[in-house]
Amino acid sequence: MKKKKTKYIFVVGGVMSGVGKGIASASIGKILQSRGIEVTALKIDPYVNVDAGTMNPTEHGEVFVLNDGTECDQDMGNYERFLNRDLSQTNYMTTGSVYLSVIQRERNLEFGGKQVEVVPRIPLEIIERINKAITKAKAEVAITEIGGTVGEYENILFLEAVRMLKIKNPEDVLLVLVSHVPALGAGGNELKTKPTQHAVRSLNAVGLNPDIILARAHIPMDKKRKEKIEFMCSLQKGDVISAPNVKNIYEVPINFENDGLADRIFKKLKIKPRQKDMKEWRTMVKKMQNAKKTIRIGIVGKYFGTGEFVLEDSYISVIEAIKHASGAHGSRSDIQWVNSEQFEKNPSSLKELKEFDGIIVPGGFGSRGVEGKISVVKYCRENKIPYFGLCYGMQLAVVEFARNVVGMKGANTTEINPKTPYPVIDIMPEQKKNLKEKNYGATMRLGAYPANLKKGSIAETSYDMSKISERHRHRYEVNPLFIDKMVKAGLTFSGSSPNGEFMEIAELPRNIHPFFLGTQFHPELKSRPLSPHPLFLTFIKACLPAGRPVSKIKK
Ligand code: GLN
Repeated sequence: MKKKKTKYIFVVGGVMSGVGKGIASASIGKILQSRGIEVTALKIDPYVNVDAGTMNPTEHGEVFVLNDGTECDQDMGNYERFLNRDLSQTNYMTTGSVYLSVIQRERNLEFGGKQVEVVPRIPLEIIERINKAITKAKAEVAITEIGGTVGEYENILFLEAVRMLKIKNPEDVLLVLVSHVPALGAGGNELKTKPTQHAVRSLNAVGLNPDIILARAHIPMDKKRKEKIEFMCSLQKGDVISAPNVKNIYEVPINFENDGLADRIFKKLKIKPRQKDMKEWRTMVKKMQNAKKTIRIGIVGKYFGTGEFVLEDSYISVIEAIKHASGAHGSRSDIQWVNSEQFEKNPSSLKELKEFDGIIVPGGFGSRGVEGKISVVKYCRENKIPYFGLCYGMQLAVVEFARNVVGMKGANTTEINPKTPYPVIDIMPEQKKNLKEKNYGATMRLGAYPANLKKGSIAETSYDMSKISERHRHRYEVNPLFIDKMVKAGLTFSGSSPNGEFMEIAELPRNIHPFFLGTQFHPELKSRPLSPHPLFLTFIKACLPAGRPVSKIKK
């Protein structure tokens, strides 16, 4: 059989950043996948950082972690969630990582003593990497999102890679511009196309013209405006697709499908679709939209107060995992951000936590707000509020239990107090060296590791499996020296690494507490809308107040 030609879709952003290129790319992937096409998705970040691991999440958003331990941009999480596929390092690159490998290759004399020019060498390296990802995923179509905005310096070599590919294979390469269309006028309904026209001019300046424009606006774009962009930007009729704001990101592929985007892509790339089936996806979205109950979940952290947008981006996988599990239970979660430092200043405000149906302490680093988080754990444990600790949230639950149940006064994690008399959470031996040598990049315990679950535990009954694999990102762990004492006092370590060295899950039995569980790993990274994470499902179930009327929930 003749091998099918590989097709490339590139997604770039116009006018400004934050226009939703990630969701657009993931949604394009979804609509093609639902037509029987095997797709893979790549993210290109134009910054010099080799990966996202050393970047502050409050500035750049969450650091997503893949099975193979790659620390990458949060958009990779969107691709995994939409496509329901595990991605790998080959699906992610930055300017830093591309240069690093070209320089390494040059030092290894791989270029035969020739002078290595930025062009074409860097674009060629980029194309090679895309092809590697395609081969690895056995994909027919690769959707590659180029970060940043067209017209800026940073992504110019990536656009050059698109140009080089397109000139050689015009029928196999499609360029999609996701452009912001602002509105003026009292009601904000007069959409302005000029900024998009300028974005297209910027693409023209580097030898490209978009094939499709997704017009991102707060409202749907009218026919007149679409035609204007088509005419001014040399697009064929119908190639401007309206992409208005939506309440729920999972609606986007449905809107794209309804607008005929998949058919346009197939026509342009000369691909024959094999099926049409978005049934499961549509059912999932409907279930989310028709939720009968609302529950209130508090996410307790330290950074809160720096602006809503940043905040939500820093915890996107946690938010999405809550959404998936809530939707599956026919409910909707109202997420509130709780600043842990307030409880340090004013401990009596802890009683405000009664408002919540469940509390999550997500992953984190450093000492700010930690005592506040520990007091939150204590409050949840004593008042039987469902508590779910993710990584740091698990470690702090162990600290709290050691201090207040076992009676180890001053127990702590050595991340906070290296001199604590009871270092119940301690740095992993191999990590000490990394910190001493300031070797921070990609050196944590990262990626997927297996764990065995204790029979009959909340963890095991949730997964309905005795062996699991989950993703990690941490340097500290439960100190084996104190495990016996904690177990005797009633804490169950219901998940551990196969050799018994690492404690992966800690929980209190059901007859003691409705849900008190923490994981050393990050379950949120593996939750997907079509397969919500089992621990989130059990947590949300425990939060759903039996028979509590929605009207009683304070807004
Ligand atoms: N700071 C803790 C550690 O390094 C927890 C990390 C996390 O929550 N991701 O072990």
